[in-house]
Amino acid sequence: MRNVVLLGSTGSIGTSTIKVAEDLPDKIRLLGLAAGKNMNLLLEQTRKHRPETISIADPAKARELRDRLGTSTEVLSGPEGLLKLATLPGADTVLIAIVGTAGLQPALAAIRAGKDIAIASKEILVMAGEIVMREAREHGVNVLAVDSEHSAIFQCLDGKPPGSIRRLWLTASGGPFRTTPKAEFAAITVERALKHPSWVMGRKITIDSATLFNKGLEMIEARWLFDVEMGRVSVVVHPQSIVHSLVEFIDGCMLAQLSTPDMCLPIQYALTYPDRALSQRVQTSLAKLGTLTFEEPDPDRFPALNLARRAGEVGGTLPAVLNAANEVAVDAFVNRRISFLDISALVRRTMDRHQTVPHPTLEQILEADAWARAEASKA
Ligand code: NDP
Repeated sequence: MRNVVLLGSTGSIGTSTIKVAEDLPDKIRLLGLAAGKNMNLLLEQTRKHRPETISIADPAKARELRDRLGTSTEVLSGPEGLLKLATLPGADTVLIAIVGTAGLQPALAAIRAGKDIAIASKEILVMAGEIVMREAREHGVNVLAVDSEHSAIFQCLDGKPPGSIRRLWLTASGGPFRTTPKAEFAAITVERALKHPSWVMGRKITIDSATLFNKGLEMIEARWLFDVEMGRVSVVVHPQSIVHSLVEFIDGCMLAQLSTPDMCLPIQYALTYPDRALSQRVQTSLAKLGTLTFEEPDPDRFPALNLARRAGEVGGTLPAVLNAANEVAVDAFVNRRISFLDISALVRRTMDRHQTVPHPTLEQILEADAWARAEASKA
């Protein structure tokens, strides 16, 4: 039985994780749950799964939850609540699926408390990959990938050392604008950008999939998770989203992981690793799929890829700046203050103005994050 703390239980990854726990009641116990605003869903999840401790962002909602629950479940709130959940003595694995940067401190706290962490929130490794991976090594804990691409690479690598890798290939669906001519990009609406061809996800990551910033963030994540330099991390567009990523080894062999897209599969693997558990949820018929295609990404229509490559190569505080400026830009786009094309322009401008700090401390990373948010918001 694995005791799991789930941070972000009410989101897209969170609710898929709950489904996985319901599929495997003799293997996964939900010991702790945390949500942002959705009190009613957290209440429902708590009544059903009876976790030891829960947390919600707003202290007033925590009081209301306590009254409505009237059980022995401990109800916490705010950033302190997340830290306490991440270090619950009975927890084996902490799965972090909070959108934004609120998952970073809990991830480090969990590692320092000797817990394995399963990471969905990209911001953690993008902002502080060097620190997180160093601390995980020092504390002898596993950093497990929940993102389908990184889970695929993790499964293909199967413990082989970084020296055996020629190249990591992240697959990208290409998003809703894969074939849209550049001349039409200026007129892209929020509604069109929110329609992803293969995955149903939270708003922020759906827009990031349309700009390909999502893939850019994943390149930086892969660089840290698998300890290879950015030059050996590449992207190939694969519109069917069946091959979730590939590893090209030094002998020229390529291994890929395939399945119909369903986030429950990588989540389940992260929570049962190194075992595999029986599940009927994912069924893949290659014959029905017929054709799998691959193409080069277009850096001209999707500048996010080269911006992320530059951030990953320079390192230091620059990836945190890319991430924060992109969050501000996505927010401005969905609130119709800037155009789709302005998203990458704003990120580039913010990166150009940043004085990168090499090998930063956590404080310097958080300072760079705050600086980038303020700088990008000026535009
Ligand atoms: P959602 O927007 O669907 O969910 C975000 C979750 O975070 C919600 O449960 C939300 O709570 C919670 N949350 C937000 N702020 C806080 C806070 N301060 N304290 C506690 N909880 C908080 O996002 P996704 O599930 O799509 O994505 C989560 C992360 O996983 C992102 O970093 C994303 O990049 C990554 N990811 C997502 C994938 C996907 O398929 N969706 C695939 C791979 C990675 P509430 O709803 O109650 O406000």
